[in-house]
This record gives sequence, structure tokens and C-alpha cells, in this order.
Amino acid sequence: MRVNRREFGGLLGGALVGNALPALHAQPAGRSFGYCIIGLGRISMDHFMPGVLAGNGVRITGIVSGHRDKAERMAAKYGVPESSIYSYENCDAMRDNKEIDGVYVALPNSMHAEYTIRAAKAGKHVLCEKPMSTSVEDARAMIAACRAAGRKLMIAYRCQLEPTNLRAIELIRSGRLGVVQTIESGYGFNIRAGEWRLNRKLAGGGPLMDVGIYALNASRYLTGEEPKEIAAHSSVIDHDGRFNEVEENVGWTMTFPSGIVASCNTTYGAPMEGFYRVHGSKGVLHAEPAFAYEGIHLRAKFDDGDPIDDLESEHDPQQFRRQAEYFAGCVAKDQEPKMNGEEGLRDMELIARIYSACGIHL
Ligand code: NAD
Repeated sequence: MRVNRREFGGLLGGALVGNALPALHAQPAGRSFGYCIIGLGRISMDHFMPGVLAGNGVRITGIVSGHRDKAERMAAKYGVPESSIYSYENCDAMRDNKEIDGVYVALPNSMHAEYTIRAAKAGKHVLCEKPMSTSVEDARAMIAACRAAGRKLMIAYRCQLEPTNLRAIELIRSGRLGVVQTIESGYGFNIRAGEWRLNRKLAGGGPLMDVGIYALNASRYLTGEEPKEIAAHSSVIDHDGRFNEVEENVGWTMTFPSGIVASCNTTYGAPMEGFYRVHGSKGVLHAEPAFAYEGIHLRAKFDDGDPIDDLESEHDPQQFRRQAEYFAGCVAKDQEPKMNGEEGLRDMELIARIYSACGIHL
């Protein structure tokens, strides 16, 4: 049986999603949430900014970029006044810009901490891309800065708001799979030479920091548990100059308090569609792609009852629109985002443990 989104409306209106997501038009009438975009790269320009444009109660009111020409082009496209374009050097001046409520940090990983802390000190709420930081210490400092400023911090774990991933969680929690025993998950791609992602100083690490984090985060939200034990291995196979500073492959296993064992892989050496498989005593659930911008596909088979074949019908940038609206809604309602700084910190602590088990120290 193939189930579409409408047939799944019961869940979307139900307890899990209903509680998780504040109402979408949460901003008071006449006042929308103004985002300042920090970093005009692929995720900002191709996905997040179109998501804000499509959104309700959200708009782009500032830009921080090192490239004035590009910033002016994007400002014209999104109706941002030139006076609200900042450089990395002068962006603290956004403190005086009342049109900017929060920032979206979409810079190379190691820059997330600095710009989150500067934005918080300028009195702005922060939506920061994953991975939150490149060290546990930086993650803690980001949380402390936002707390000291009385500003909200959310990490852009868009899959935690995405309906098909929420449906997978609901199926597991409902007991339809029986007792969950094992999970497999992975995500990777074949990286091009020259990317900042291969520079340890900017990226903090290799595929684990970048895309392996999806498998890690999914293992946690699917089980609803925190890993107890971790074992891990890393390797470099292609000695072609790309992996002088970061690893090419990481495989790790996590044992959860219930006994669930999750086996995860990530690579920069091969295309690997993001996926997870959850094996329970009464059924199996398989999402692939599980973390893509669109076309998320969930299949499940049970000992009893009809199978599920749910092909996500949303189109990019719907996930980014939802994320932008959700964060604005959290601010408007003074509600803690479910993907808050502590959620990002937990992944950073686990990433540090995984690397440490590989003999790599952050
Ligand atoms: P990108 O290379 O396309 O963009 C990076 C931006 O940072 C560019 O505007 C670049 O000019 C700017 N920058 C400033 N200083 C820089 C420096 N020293 N070196 C390189 N760039 C510098 O990267 P991206 O793919 O947009 O990734 C940005 C962040 O977003 C990363 O943290 C990444 O993990 C995250 N990301 C998240 C998702 C998601 O689905 N949530 C997807 C892709 C990327």
C-alpha cells in the first residue's frame, strides 16, 4: 500500500507533530521575523533563502558576506536595503538594526561559534547550521553566550521537523515494529578536491562532522535514547591528496541503554544516499533517501497489517521554509526549540567520542 501525505494527515494533526511544531503564522500580525543571513554559500542561497521567501511571518532583513557584489545582488533579489549589508568585520553593528531579529549562520563549521557568539552579543537569536561547532568547548560557549544574552539558539537539524522522519519516529514509538533491536544508517558522497570540507581548520573533521552527523542524530531521534557505548574505526583509502587533513571513512557502532545497537557509516569517497533501516521484532522500517532536501522515501513491513510505502511529495525548499517558520515561532512564543543548543552539544560530545575511538582528537 502506498500512502500519500494526505492519508497521513492523521499523524500530522496528531500528538507528536502537533506538540512539536508551534503554529506556522506565529508572528504577531504586521510584524514578521527578520533573518540576517551570515554566509552566502550553497545552503543559504539555494535552499534557506528561497525557504524564507516562501514562508509566512519570516523575511530576510540583513546579509553578512565577504563579497559585496554577491551581497548586493542577493539584497536586491530579497528586498534587503543596502544599509543592512554587513561585512564579517562590521557585522556587530547589526545590534542597532531593529529589522533583524535573528541570524542564520551558514559558514564553514569552525566559524559557527564565533558568529553565533557575536550575534548573541548583538542581541540576536541564532539559527546555526550543523554541525554546531568543531569542538565541545565551542558548543558550550555558544550555549552560554545565547543564554547570557537571553536569546534563543537552534541548530538546523531540519530532519527533526520533516514529516516522513516524524512518521518513522511515530511508527517506532507506537510499537508497530515490536521491540527495536538494531539500526543501520549512513550518509556520504564522493567529495571534490579543493572543498573547504577537506580543510581540517575550517571543517573540524571529515564526513563524520559533515554528513555522518545525520546518521548519528537520526539514531538518537529514532531510539529516543542516548548512546552508552561507542566503538569506531576510520580509514583513508584514496591517497590522492584529498585526505591529508581529514578522514575519508568512519564506521561506528553505538549501544543504547535499551540494548539497541546502531551501526553507522559515513564516507567522502563514494556516493552514499542517506538512509536508515530499523529492525524490530515485528517489522522493519527503511527510509532511503532519509535526509535529502526532497523525495524522502519511507517503507515499512510488519508481521501484521499492510506495509507502508510513503514517498514524500514535498519539494525543496519546503523543509527550509518549515525550519525558518519554526524558529521564528519559537521566538514569538518564547518556546525552547526542540533542536536547541543542548541537542547540538550532545552530537558534538558524541562526535568527539567517535573520533577519539578512531585515535583522532578534536
Ligand atoms: P559553501 O562553501 O557553499 O558556503 C560557505 C560560505 O561561507 C560561503 O558564502 C563562503 O564565502 C563563506 N566563507 C566565509 N569564510 C570562508 C572561508 N574561510 N572559507 C570558505 N568559505 C568561507 O558551504 P555550504 O555547503 O553552504 O555549507 C555551509 C554550512 O552549512 C556548513 O556548516 C554545512 O555543514 C552546512 N550545511 C547544511 C546543510 C543542511 O541540509 N542543513 C546542507 C549543506 C550544508
